Amino acid sequence: MLLALIATACRDEIPRSKSESMAEPVSELHARSLALSELHEPAPTVGSGDWLAEHEEPGQTFAEYLDEDPVAATAGRRRIYVVPIGEFDAGRQQVFDRTVEAVRHWFGLEVVVEAAVPLSAIPQNSMRQSNHGDWLQLHAGYLMRRVLRPNLPADAACRIGFVSADLWPGRGWNFVFGQASLRDRIGVWSLYRNGDPNESKAAARLCLLRTVKTATHEIGHMFGMRHCTAWSCNLAGSNHQAESDRQPWRLCPECLPKLLRATGVDAGERFVALRRFGDGFGLAAEAEWFARAGDAWRSAR
Ligand SMILES: [Zn+2]
Ligand SMILES: [Zn+2]
Repeated sequence: MLLALIATACRDEIPRSKSESMAEPVSELHARSLALSELHEPAPTVGSGDWLAEHEEPGQTFAEYLDEDPVAATAGRRRIYVVPIGEFDAGRQQVFDRTVEAVRHWFGLEVVVEAAVPLSAIPQNSMRQSNHGDWLQLHAGYLMRRVLRPNLPADAACRIGFVSADLWPGRGWNFVFGQASLRDRIGVWSLYRNGDPNESKAAARLCLLRTVKTATHEIGHMFGMRHCTAWSCNLAGSNHQAESDRQPWRLCPECLPKLLRATGVDAGERFVALRRFGDGFGLAAEAEWFARAGDAWRSAR
């Protein structure tokens, strides 16, 4: 349900600002990405209740992405700002810190963590107790309009709020995992539904993987990347937790060159950094894939 809201925002709010040209020709970025095709899986068959069973989406090739003249990180806008909102216990603080590091490696941009916004700063009429008081929900629109959009730093490629509590977007909705505006380059994401990382090491790894996948998916939207339908890919839409868990933390040959073009990050260095991240924090399968992708990228030169 929540993801439907994000998708609607994506479709309606693709920005049209001019981007700076990057050093490597975009045709070469795409050709080298296509050379990694054998490391990827095609999109899985759509099942009942899956995203594409309920949303008609055409996908977006790299050429179609370029035709939209999407937003990119320019020389003057190379920072991703992150605002912690609410209180984080030890396990969730660790997930937050590691997700910040993952975002830095994924996009190759500086990530700046701003001062935390305490729950006491959120007005009572922008929060509610869900399910007769069982848990706290914060109003996503309030956070977007009143916390993240004002005073957006001039050098911000985008600004994201990481929220410890649950989110809801307003009347008619039970909750959202997150919400984003592509026009304003702002968004919020909640850790609330990613499991309790304090339960066990396995739960902490699962929470981290879910959180980094959501963060990189949504920030990708902020750089004009639409949902991917051709491959099993981090930019594929997701309608429920099981579908999201099936999707890999990697970008397909059509989506990788979009990110490289939008950020100017060196793909080879990016794969090395992501492999180290995976090795360091227990994401062994992801680390192993990044290692193979890095090798394939170098030999595709
Ligand atoms: Zn999405
Ligand atoms: Zn893709």
